[in-house]
Amino acid sequence: MLPLDPQADAGRRAWVACPNCAARSGCARCEQGRGCTRHWRYLLSNTGSLLHLQCPACTHVWTHETHFGATRSRRPR
Ligand SMILES: [Zn+2]
Ligand SMILES: [Zn+2]
Repeated sequence: MLPLDPQADAGRRAWVACPNCAARSGCARCEQGRGCTRHWRYLLSNTGSLLHLQCPACTHVWTHETHFGATRSRRPR
């Protein structure tokens, strides 16, 4: 297992299913798209619409493309 990233902060959470452990499957609250208090991931950082996430359960790190124009400053094109 990887150590938790130093940027991991429980105050910054994202509700994205972990591709490694998929812990949210079967959770009614997650399936409704609500902010589940048990199944959340650390939001390490974000670059535009690309989120850098870490799973607190298995410490898997991955990036998630939201396709939202999350940034007001820089646009790629
Ligand atoms: Zn996981
Ligand atoms: Zn849940």
